[in-house]
Amino acid sequence: MRLRWTEEQIAFRAEVRAWMHANVPLDMRRATVEGRRLSKATQVAWQKALHGRGWMAPHWPVEHGGTGWDPVRIHIFEDEMAAAGGGPPVPFGVSMVGPVIVRFGTEAQKTRFLPRILSSEDWWCQGFSEPGAGSDLAGLRTRAEPADGRWVLNGQKTWTTLAQHADMIFVLARTEPDAAKPQQGISFLLVDMRTPGITVRPIVTIDGEHEVNEVFFDDVSVPAENLVGERGQGWTIAKFLLGNERTGIARVGQSKRWLEHLKTIARAEEVDGTKLIDEPRFRAKVAAVETDLMALEITALRMATAGSGDGDGAAGGAGPSILKIRGSEIQQRLTELAMEAVGPAALPFQPNALEPGWNGEPFGPAHAAPAAPHYLGWRKVSIYGGSNEIQRNILARALLGL
Ligand SMILES: Cc1cc2nc3c(=O)[nH]c(=O)nc-3n(C[C@H](O)[C@H](O)[C@H](O)COP(=O)(O)OP(=O)(O)OC[C@H]3O[C@@H](n4cnc5c(N)ncnc54)[C@H](O)[C@@H]3O)c2cc1C
Repeated sequence: MRLRWTEEQIAFRAEVRAWMHANVPLDMRRATVEGRRLSKATQVAWQKALHGRGWMAPHWPVEHGGTGWDPVRIHIFEDEMAAAGGGPPVPFGVSMVGPVIVRFGTEAQKTRFLPRILSSEDWWCQGFSEPGAGSDLAGLRTRAEPADGRWVLNGQKTWTTLAQHADMIFVLARTEPDAAKPQQGISFLLVDMRTPGITVRPIVTIDGEHEVNEVFFDDVSVPAENLVGERGQGWTIAKFLLGNERTGIARVGQSKRWLEHLKTIARAEEVDGTKLIDEPRFRAKVAAVETDLMALEITALRMATAGSGDGDGAAGGAGPSILKIRGSEIQQRLTELAMEAVGPAALPFQPNALEPGWNGEPFGPAHAAPAAPHYLGWRKVSIYGGSNEIQRNILARALLGL
């Protein structure tokens, strides 16, 4: 793998940087730098701006509205977007179900759903996990039965991120209850959230936020043409989707931005008359996480270019799990260091400090308010997308043959 950017890549970076600096809205820049949440309106407006420039789905094939960029260009694009404070599009449409429809969908599904993902007309959510079927996803019990040329859906999903905003949900449901193995007889369905029989109930998490939900299906009627791929092919499709989800959790650009913010905090904080950034033990911790982040970036690039003749293999198919583990650990370390940097000012816990428009009175400096909810909220990243323990099991099997 070459580690030097080409002239063409340098010019491309400059083009993306200029556009991002001119177009990332100020409120989004502030929110992403401090790790605060964005309102749906801000997120959608930003996605529409990306779409207007043709950059909503760089990784999609050109015929469906993608850019045709190679993995290095996509990396540069994501890096510059993050550096400018531009949040990535919500992943459930563009990075999860979109590539599934491209790969497994019918022509009619492509025509109907892909343009609406690009234009942000449809907000998607992910209906995989259930009570009792998280790590053991194949144990899912939501079922879809054929009736009069439709599917009738019954069951419950949980931890459904941003379902309160969603127009559509992609669901794994059991269509062959008598299949020999639990992984068999699962199908992948696209469901309109406005269908009668769907109930969304909020779950408020430890950071005081409403991001996740329970979703109940009670005799929900789903058109037959909303089955993706073959009946019973859901497990294969889910594995394809989860690979993309895990790779996306690496979030190198976001961690670089958080690292810069951490340094800003450490320059502002003092310990016994010394700036925290100059305090040797804290400095060593920041250097260690920065080094790991650089290594992750190179690893992600190496994996992305595997197969292009410019890389050295994607770790025998275990690449997404490696990126997920390292990326999530780095994100959590950065939130831990931010807590450490602000010290007692992180307490008392200031709930909802990540919400757009939060106007509470901060205890201590303003940069301290988001530290505790951010730290608490970010415990989730080693759980969702398949917990890090499960990713280590995958590595043990794929790489160590255990
Ligand atoms: C904030 C958040 C958002 C989420 N968003 C979504 C979403 O939008 N859509 C969706 O479908 N799901 C979502 N999830 C669900 C997520 O995928 C599951 O929480 C995750 O897969 C773990 O499942 P579980 O919670 O049932 O825990 P369990 O499977 O019960 O696991 C509990 C603990 O046991 C460990 N464990 C379990 N089995 C093993 C094993 N074989 N070996 C070693 N350790 C093991 C796990 O690592 C974990 O630490 C979200 C979760 C969170 C926290």
